Amino acid sequence: MPLPHTMNALKLYAPGDIRFETVPLPRIKDDEVLVNVKACGVCGSDIPRLLTHGAHRAELIPGHEFSGVVVAVGKDVDNVAPGRRVTAAPLIPCMKCQWCDKGHYSLCENYDYLGSRSDGAMAEYVRVPKANLLPLPDSVAFEAAAMVDPAANAVHALDKAEIAPDSAVAIFGVGPIGLFAIQLAKHLGAKIVIGVDVNEEKLALAKTAGCDAVINSLKQDPAQAIREIVPGGANVILDASGAPIAQHQCALAAANHAAVIFLGISHDSLTLSEKAVDRILRGELCLRGSWNSFSKPFPGREWTYSVELMEQGVFGNPSFISHRLRLNEGPEFFTALAKDRFNFNKIMFLP
Ligand SMILES: [Zn+2]
Ligand SMILES: [Zn+2]
Repeated sequence: MPLPHTMNALKLYAPGDIRFETVPLPRIKDDEVLVNVKACGVCGSDIPRLLTHGAHRAELIPGHEFSGVVVAVGKDVDNVAPGRRVTAAPLIPCMKCQWCDKGHYSLCENYDYLGSRSDGAMAEYVRVPKANLLPLPDSVAFEAAAMVDPAANAVHALDKAEIAPDSAVAIFGVGPIGLFAIQLAKHLGAKIVIGVDVNEEKLALAKTAGCDAVINSLKQDPAQAIREIVPGGANVILDASGAPIAQHQCALAAANHAAVIFLGISHDSLTLSEKAVDRILRGELCLRGSWNSFSKPFPGREWTYSVELMEQGVFGNPSFISHRLRLNEGPEFFTALAKDRFNFNKIMFLP
């Protein structure tokens, strides 16, 4: 079938100004492919991008968590052919800086990014470099494949800790990344996995994802509740919420020699109580940050392993998706979200 000359897309003009438009079809370079988008998720980072902070460039097509079918390939593309079902990593590292050299692509000093710096996938078609593609097994549905990005973020974060068979793991913030972290911790054999959030619906979902216990931190002090479940505290703690109050509670809930990993993006300062500082020192805690999801060889084990875990049925659950939308419903949906800030889990566009 010949390709059309135009496509439908969502375009971000300014924070809160998102329009549904007909735009020219992206033109691919020799080392790029054109993907017909079948599903595109809304990332936690898209919410401030779309509603408050804006993007790096005006009139951007957002969307970096997607899957689809390759419909055209540049002349230097040898790893996929048209018709292939794929997902793709959104980071386009420079491959020249000291961090790229070491394979720490998440720390690249001069990167491009689909959906934040270059046009993304809240559209019928998106242009993708061949190095970013991951072919999909037949059993991995497009919707699941559009969640490989949050899954890979969970893998990248938990790769920074050691989960032993007797480990107690606590996950603060059980949005999509937190849910994948729960599934991964269980899969890696953690003895007990505890989910913490302020939202009952999300906690119910955390249970279906495999949590042994859930704590609503509006109703209970999570550090105390975790210590009641696991005397001594949790060995691996992941903050996927980005809320300073949760980051503080993470330190208080940690066992001796625990790894505390901060992944949730925060735009706030963090004050630690004397008790928390004492816990960090006396418990010899390891506090680590985790950023994005990439390693060598690009895009990294985080991505290939996440696809594998989806194929095995370890990762994912259709109920992670709270909203399914057509592209033309986007502007109205984001206006309503800006106004009411209603609860959501994964929002998925099906162009
Ligand atoms: Zn994302
Ligand atoms: Zn670089």
